[in-house]
Amino acid sequence: MSILIGGAWPYANGSLHLGHIAALLPGDILARYYRLKGESVLYVSGSDCNGTPISIRANQEGLAIQDIADRYHQEFIESFAILGFSYDFYSRTDSQQHHEVVQRIFLQLLENGYIYKKEIEQTYCEFDHQFLPDRYVEGVCPNCGHPSRGDQCDNCSTILDPLDLIDRKCKICGNEPTTKATEHFYFSLSSFQHELEEQVKKVRANKAWRENAIHLSERYLTEGLHDRAVSRDLQNGVSVPVQGYEDKKVYVWIEAVSGYYSASQQWAIDTNQSDEAFWNEETVSYYVHGKDNIPFHSIIWPSILSGIGKDAFPTHIVSNEYLTLEKKKLSTSKNWAVWVPAILESYDPDSIRYFLSANAPENRDADFSWREFIFSHNSELLGAYGNLVNRTLKFIDKSFEGAVSGNLDLDIIEMIQFRYGEIGHLIEQGHFKQAIETIFETIRFGNKYFDTKQPWKEIHENREECKNILLTCVHIIANCAQLLSPFLPFSSDKVKAMLNLAPFTWEPIEKSIYQTFQVSPLFERIDLNQIEIELEKLKLNAI
Ligand SMILES: [Zn+2]
Ligand SMILES: [Zn+2]
Repeated sequence: MSILIGGAWPYANGSLHLGHIAALLPGDILARYYRLKGESVLYVSGSDCNGTPISIRANQEGLAIQDIADRYHQEFIESFAILGFSYDFYSRTDSQQHHEVVQRIFLQLLENGYIYKKEIEQTYCEFDHQFLPDRYVEGVCPNCGHPSRGDQCDNCSTILDPLDLIDRKCKICGNEPTTKATEHFYFSLSSFQHELEEQVKKVRANKAWRENAIHLSERYLTEGLHDRAVSRDLQNGVSVPVQGYEDKKVYVWIEAVSGYYSASQQWAIDTNQSDEAFWNEETVSYYVHGKDNIPFHSIIWPSILSGIGKDAFPTHIVSNEYLTLEKKKLSTSKNWAVWVPAILESYDPDSIRYFLSANAPENRDADFSWREFIFSHNSELLGAYGNLVNRTLKFIDKSFEGAVSGNLDLDIIEMIQFRYGEIGHLIEQGHFKQAIETIFETIRFGNKYFDTKQPWKEIHENREECKNILLTCVHIIANCAQLLSPFLPFSSDKVKAMLNLAPFTWEPIEKSIYQTFQVSPLFERIDLNQIEIELEKLKLNAI
């Protein structure tokens, strides 16, 4: 089976925060899981380096656009590496190759009659002497009455044209913009109305998309799809590949999503393979992002793919709800955020991955609080998992010189075998929270088993039985480490090294002899004083 996994593209004008990671982590869990199963996996993403916010930031700092994009692209790569994200290819949208692929897609759509030219009125700022990008027109949403940007209302998710807004203001200078006639290219989204209706009906039936993605897509389709502009008057981005229109840029909503394809193509070149298998009817694809990105993946990207003759409708959409911070909405402008480079300086990447999996905003918003984060590390990772590993392996080290063999409890062999199917199914369906919870139930079961069987007593009464008990505990540990490896790759690798296990797969490990190597604690306790320290820092830095 060929599995394509597309993680959303973070925008290269500022650091990553935990909200990004909460939305993106499922992609890495899926990639790691399917690789263990022996499937052919292509996991791609990249940095979004085009668009106005980067040019504005560059202006403010007196730097070139490229410098800003380089700085954050590099930082993203480092953050993802420390967090263990296992992208097969991580790209950037200002690469020559991406530009070429986007231009090719643009021309194909033009040739196939899905892109056409049209004269329109566009918002223009007389003070800044420029046409305004949609996001740079602000006003009141005509649908719900909340303050909104010109491209989309964050409150009611309606897709907007800047001219729809009431009380329009230029975001750069605050003045009311005027309008000016200009020529632009349009994408005939309406041509795909019927096809998308059919497809969304299917995903509604098989529940392969998250409910929020199905629901929102149905709403867009009920309202009816409208053709949208695909070119903009911008400084940086991909030039429109049509003579006389080179100064216009391909609008980011069609350009950024095409990155999945350009990254896949670049991966094929770099690895000297074909990426054909990842873009056809049989491909299983997962698109992983936050809910604000849904329409780009559920409506626009499938239409583009269909428009260029690729039968690769997204089979799975994993669109998380939002992560809040200490029960308040994350805000980068108010600096109410936990920044990834900062948290990685003091905390274990597996602690972050554990918290964001066990408390994933899958069906509703979830909250990150320093208290919960530190308690979940101390009680679950250290108290349950670390404790089971440590006391079992230390016991074997001390009493059996690091080697244990014997007979496994048959019921437990069966329970573990069953877990692979159960947890695999949960991961494939995008239920990561339930999957990791089920593994931790197994770990808690292991601790209870250790307590009831009392190997510390048995060693004096029945040495063979004591070995059987310890072997069964190691059996649970080795298999839980393997089952956890898509979620917690670093601690799983530690267990693998301490037990000298073979490379992980998605088949039960069933050995009757184990040897331990350099047993050391899996996790360290986090001092509870950290809760207050981190909260103080957060409040001090907030604007
Ligand atoms: Zn609205
Ligand atoms: Zn202005």
